[in-house]
Amino acid sequence: MTVTGTYRKKLLKTLHKASRQSHIDKLLSMRSQGKAMECVAAHPASSHFMSTGKFTRFADWRFVHPARLNLLPVNGAKQWTDATSKRCRRCGADNETLPHVVNHCKIHSAAWTKRHNAIQERIRKAVAFRGQVMSVNRAVGDTRLRPDIVATIDGKVYIIDITIPFENRLSAFQEASNRKINKYQPIITHFKNQGVKEVFIIPIIVAL
Ligand SMILES: [Zn+2]
Repeated sequence: MTVTGTYRKKLLKTLHKASRQSHIDKLLSMRSQGKAMECVAAHPASSHFMSTGKFTRFADWRFVHPARLNLLPVNGAKQWTDATSKRCRRCGADNETLPHVVNHCKIHSAAWTKRHNAIQERIRKAVAFRGQVMSVNRAVGDTRLRPDIVATIDGKVYIIDITIPFENRLSAFQEASNRKINKYQPIITHFKNQGVKEVFIIPIIVAL
């Protein structure tokens, strides 16, 4: 059979598409991919650093990939020992798993705040580039609500709030996002009463 020029292109495109799909299927079927990948796949920004390396130090890079694949040498991953040696080396909790180390171990609670503030600062800088930051972590009017960042961009007001949920499933992300949107409704009313026409709540949900 002879393949003409146009068909050749079509054929290659189809083969390329099929091989890409099978690669994606294979990746998603791996044991540890399910949880984080579900969220990462929801937005291209989630994995931008893989191709550009922007805002990522070598130290982060060396941590991110083993962590993402659940390959860090945590005590909870030891299959061959008794229960006592699975304990957290810092707080003594029953099982030193990756979620325990990054999100649950109370010894690191000061680091949770630091982590939150670092993300907040990164976003504040990015927003300041496009518009004007009105407040950071301050109560808005008499609402008693303290969103992380309030900013105006092109006459519109944006209420930005960052959360790092302990659960990494997409449903947990959606719940966290909805909670923020409900929580900050009074701020929308506050700005609308001041004559601002467009007010948006932007929850930023960060996966770990
Ligand atoms: Zn611990």
